[in-house]
Amino acid sequence: MGQLISLIIFITILFGIMVVFLYKRKLLKKRLSQKIPELWREILVKKVLFYQQLYDQDKRLFEKRIQRFLATKKIEGIDTEIDDSIRLFVASSAVIPTFAFPEYNYPGVHSVLIYPGSFDEQFQTQQFEGSKENIIGIVGNRFQNGVVILSKPDLIAAFDGLPHKSNVGVHEFVHLLDKEDGVIDGIPELLMQHKYVGPWLHEIKKEMRKIETGKSDINPYALTNNAEFLAVVSEYFFDSPKKFKTKHPELYEFLSTIFNIKKNI
Ligand SMILES: [Zn+2]
Repeated sequence: MGQLISLIIFITILFGIMVVFLYKRKLLKKRLSQKIPELWREILVKKVLFYQQLYDQDKRLFEKRIQRFLATKKIEGIDTEIDDSIRLFVASSAVIPTFAFPEYNYPGVHSVLIYPGSFDEQFQTQQFEGSKENIIGIVGNRFQNGVVILSKPDLIAAFDGLPHKSNVGVHEFVHLLDKEDGVIDGIPELLMQHKYVGPWLHEIKKEMRKIETGKSDINPYALTNNAEFLAVVSEYFFDSPKKFKTKHPELYEFLSTIFNIKKNI
């Protein structure tokens, strides 16, 4: 008798889980089938350079990816208000480096926390901003898994509609892609065929020497290690692709292969 009751409870729980799962899936499908609000499109047109440069068909694809990210991840302001612009900047940061992989939606990420300023490793917001020591983004490897933390002013500065070489959002999401193979080491094995690993490491060394001797316009933060090198050059690659291609043609080729960007951007 006891066994029968346990079985009935088990089946009821299983059925309940299935119903919730199917309901959530249906809700997501419904949300994704809706068009994005016109206000969102206006923000993307004004502020997200990568989106501006896409063909119309790809713009629609970008919008769908944004919707999916926003429908499946929690974005929360910590001691700061966040609006649609901030949510769109976060989702754009996630979609830009994975645009060539339409099914990818950061399975390891469940939340993005937005802080009002830079912060130190204990997550205490700091008074001073902009110095190199201040952390403006964190991927939750050492702290909390599945969480990305970004500084609001740095995110706003990254998405001002103008080309530059830095983008804190793209930087952190590239770390997450790098982390997919289990280790953040500058070799995103999820995206990179094994035969490219050796030449890629050689290219990193070569460019690092140029940065060290003042012969490169890449942010010297790239010298920290191979992982930071990948994140820093990816910011430049996605934010100012034409300039990056002219100044760093070999690196441009590597990053085009890694991120599967087939056409010239
Ligand atoms: Zn980094």
